[in-house]
Amino acid sequence: MNDVKTQGLSFRQSVNHMVDRALTALGIEPGLARAMKTCNSVLQVSFPVRIRGKIEVFKGWRAVHSIHRLPAKGGIRYDLKVCQDEVEALASLMTYKCAIVDVPFGGSKGGLHIDPRQYDRDELELITRRFARELARRGFLSPATNVPAPDVGTGQREMAWILDTYKTLYPEDINYIACVTGKPVAHGGIRGRVEATGRGVQLGLREFFRHMEDVKAAGLEGGLADKRIVVQGLGNVGYHAAKFLQEQDGAKIVAIIERDGALIDDNGLAVEQVRQYMNETGGIKGFPGASYVEDGAAVLEKECDILLPAALEGVIHTGNAARIQAKIVAEAANGPVTFEADEILRSRGIVIIPDAYLNAGGVVVSYFEWIRNIHHMRFGRMERRFDEVRGQHIVSALEMMTGEKAPDWMHTELVRGADESDLVYSGLDDTMRLAFQDICAVRDMAEGRHDYRTAAYMVAVQKIARSYADLGVSV
Ligand code: GLU
Repeated sequence: MNDVKTQGLSFRQSVNHMVDRALTALGIEPGLARAMKTCNSVLQVSFPVRIRGKIEVFKGWRAVHSIHRLPAKGGIRYDLKVCQDEVEALASLMTYKCAIVDVPFGGSKGGLHIDPRQYDRDELELITRRFARELARRGFLSPATNVPAPDVGTGQREMAWILDTYKTLYPEDINYIACVTGKPVAHGGIRGRVEATGRGVQLGLREFFRHMEDVKAAGLEGGLADKRIVVQGLGNVGYHAAKFLQEQDGAKIVAIIERDGALIDDNGLAVEQVRQYMNETGGIKGFPGASYVEDGAAVLEKECDILLPAALEGVIHTGNAARIQAKIVAEAANGPVTFEADEILRSRGIVIIPDAYLNAGGVVVSYFEWIRNIHHMRFGRMERRFDEVRGQHIVSALEMMTGEKAPDWMHTELVRGADESDLVYSGLDDTMRLAFQDICAVRDMAEGRHDYRTAAYMVAVQKIARSYADLGVSV
């Protein structure tokens, strides 16, 4: 098998070893443990597409890790590192992620072995539509059983093409619009999905910083304000997480690591400006007013409060784990720390806030989008005006009873019905808070008291095991 080697272990093995810690701590019977870790099915497709007059053959996968809940859910990635091992590992992460944040989906993931930057928009559309047809025809794309979303190298645009391909194939499916999430809002997407993963990272970190004992154990004190953060990857997740943490929590982004090097400014980099510069020039090199380091990987080792890897898997490995100087590693990406590196970091007292919890915001809002789609109505549509009128009555009643005019802020806050963005934010915030509290409730049972990864997997495994026990393992 074509494995992604992150030192001795492949990505899939690395995830499984981490899950083993939770399975052992819970004393799960070996047969059931094996069943839980095994990928249910994997589709591999190769298909030809005529590009610039020549036929090119593309290879893609869609792995379904678990079907204890349906649909199976997870993104589609376009990257040259994509292989079967990677999609299987990522699909299994989706299973645990959904269980941790109480999203009733199984885990799946897809990927195409491609460098999307080498193709123009029309070519990517041709390739994506063909891939979508392959998936749909083989039962790996459907609102009821398998629902993709964006991931590294894909976004709203790709989701719209997949949706349209599915709709053309199955126009009689009344729920066709729910066959993918992360779509443009004009095509059934939900407000807040684009920034959802980054927003979830921010909300997850905020919740961590509400637990003073945990903050202290990480060697820190206070809230997020002025915390020094190193961000690796300023893609969709890293950009939104860094931007929100900087603009709304007062954190300092002291370094940004990208493909072409790293920017450092101990007074804090303006995330929005760096991103704009990247959009204009294609990289970060030359960004004015910050020092530039060509060897981006070395900047992972910079002393900081929070290291936020937000790109691909395996960036913290046995080769650099001993030199990481962050107090907290906040896993915004999937699998950024290998199994071996995880052991090294924890033995050095570095706290890891694990991917399966911290980056779950994307799938949480995907769940809201899927519900919106099968409900065929935007959230807030029925009650918003009603709530506004009721708010107006409350303000009038207060004014009548006190004989005073309500201050403007009170008027604005009370006379306001929630719109879709408010509800998505509220649902995501609640989910991230509750999930962290669930993790804390079992954290003390994990071998190392501050091993949040094992605790998070224990939360997931308990839920999945219960579902296996209720439904039986075979049908
Ligand atoms: N690709 C994202 C992830 O890794 C989102 C998946 C989804 O929304 O289904 O969590």
